[in-house]
Amino acid sequence: MIVVMKQGATAAQIEHMIQRVEALGLKAHPIYGTEQTVIAAIGEKRDEHRQSLESGAGVSEVVPILAPYKVASLEVKPEPTVVSAGSLVVGNSHVGMIAGPCSVESEEQTVSTAKSVKASGATAIRGGAFKPRTSPYSFQGLKEDGLKILATAKKETGLAIVTEVISENDVKLVAKYADVLQIGARNMQNYRLLEEVGGEGLPVLLKRGPAASIDELLLAAEYILNAGNPNVMLCDRGIRTFETHTRFSLTLASVPYLHERSHLPVIVDPSHGTGHTSLVPRMAAAAIAAGADGLVIEVHPDPETAMSDGYQSLNFQQFEETMILCRKVANALDLKIGATSN
Ligand code: PEP
Ligand code: MN
Repeated sequence: MIVVMKQGATAAQIEHMIQRVEALGLKAHPIYGTEQTVIAAIGEKRDEHRQSLESGAGVSEVVPILAPYKVASLEVKPEPTVVSAGSLVVGNSHVGMIAGPCSVESEEQTVSTAKSVKASGATAIRGGAFKPRTSPYSFQGLKEDGLKILATAKKETGLAIVTEVISENDVKLVAKYADVLQIGARNMQNYRLLEEVGGEGLPVLLKRGPAASIDELLLAAEYILNAGNPNVMLCDRGIRTFETHTRFSLTLASVPYLHERSHLPVIVDPSHGTGHTSLVPRMAAAAIAAGADGLVIEVHPDPETAMSDGYQSLNFQQFEETMILCRKVANALDLKIGATSN
């Protein structure tokens, strides 16, 4: 339930309503907008006290929330959330470009990729040091050595680091190096991990699970937001369907749909979303046309020899061409894309 304060409600009236919400055993989450202040009342009994709250001084109305998510919703915060992490700016007409290898494999591979994608206009370097692999026999990542390589790439290029954390035991370690903590698709519903990254204070890139509905994605975001971290980026990377020609089915309609429901920025990953290098450039451009606030694209100096996901990675030239295509779409829509946004 959301307590919408009147325009011009006094600070004392707002504070009084926060205290009333809390006295009812609910958690009050005030959001101070430019026009109006609203107080999200979070708790099991949330719709019970609607009438009594509505009688409060300075209250415009109390809106029951039918959707199961609250803090992520547009009712709670109508203005789009902009997430900034060093060189990366995402949301409200800023299109962030996150590019880099699936896995950090070596210093040479990661640093050369960072330099190349930066020259093409990327605003963040991605790369997994902890890899969640389907098979325990596949490359699991270089772990802390990989994080150190990412730190070198950042030192050389100034690009913010986006990297995955797969266990709550590693959050502190990964946070020492990362600018953005990535929660992978397989962990979207690992709620203890979500709470842990929520408490860490770094922006979070939350990937949609391959079998997760949009409500489930937003509820997962809600765990992070409720832990006190407002800097959440939603990421659609495709879901599993009966289609076998693409690795996943990239549901681009989720982008405008999420924007109709949530203030959180939406990122699209056309690499995992298609699973084929040749499909990435067009789907990257299509994602921007659909309103994506950023892209995550896998780039490798030599995709043929990549230790993971080479079949969907772009080489440097292909990434450069993809950026040119994406810029055309972004310019047509008056968006600030990649490094040109700074
Ligand atoms: C990745 O970004 O390399 C990755 C493992 O992605 P996802 O979690 O979307 O499968
Ligand atoms: Mn990958």
